[in-house]
Amino acid sequence: MIRAVISDMDGVIYRGSQLIEGAKFFVDTLLKHRVPFLFLTNNSEQTAVELSLKLHKLGLPKLEDKNFLTSAKTTALFISQQKPGATCFVLGGQGLAHELEAAGCVLTDQRPDYVVVGKTRSLDYPSLRQACRLIDSGARFIGTNPDLIDPVEGEGFEPAAGSILAAVEAATGKKPYVVGKPNALMMLIARKQLGSHSSETLMVGDRMDTDIIAGMEAGMTTALVLSGVSTRETLREFPFRPDLIYDHVGNIELDRLLVERV
Ligand SMILES: [Mg+2]
Repeated sequence: MIRAVISDMDGVIYRGSQLIEGAKFFVDTLLKHRVPFLFLTNNSEQTAVELSLKLHKLGLPKLEDKNFLTSAKTTALFISQQKPGATCFVLGGQGLAHELEAAGCVLTDQRPDYVVVGKTRSLDYPSLRQACRLIDSGARFIGTNPDLIDPVEGEGFEPAAGSILAAVEAATGKKPYVVGKPNALMMLIARKQLGSHSSETLMVGDRMDTDIIAGMEAGMTTALVLSGVSTRETLREFPFRPDLIYDHVGNIELDRLLVERV
């Protein structure tokens, strides 16, 4: 029996600025049945409040902070558990800086415990140089998520956190610890936030190589939706299978899953 739901957003709930068919029905059903759920995203630039606003503008009901877990928040929780009050230098967006401060970290460019790297559209050379120098001087190197590129509606793609991490790694010769999907740590923190057991949690996503593998390795029931990256054809390239496959989230039989274990 499913008692809680974790869902990816891009390619599942929306594509660019378009709400995906069935997404409103999916969220309405979760709210109607009071199912604990959260949207999990490797996006580290935006906060839960900004993501909630984005979904609301697309036509979904207003959701709460607890309904979102970003790679920035996961990274901040991880660092604050490792070292409460840690000092951090951020090479990343406002969302990441905000989450680190909210978790009790102190932002500094002087001898930080950690250099934390995420996606930023305002990447500048002095900050990149500073990040590399601080890691070379002994700061621990953390990345928010491994995605090399992000899709941009109508414009192909743009470099994402993984590409910036690659630049820092090339310059320093040090490998980052990367927190976001498919790292099992993100699934663990998500499950703790929901208060659910793995076997009672459904993981919904559009990518075999991040969402489905992460859910499977965490021992959850996995549902692949074909509204994003993975297709029935590319599915065959993977040595593992999702438990369930749907054209879009509106087709997930939540009423049945909430009653019986698949
Ligand atoms: Mg996705």
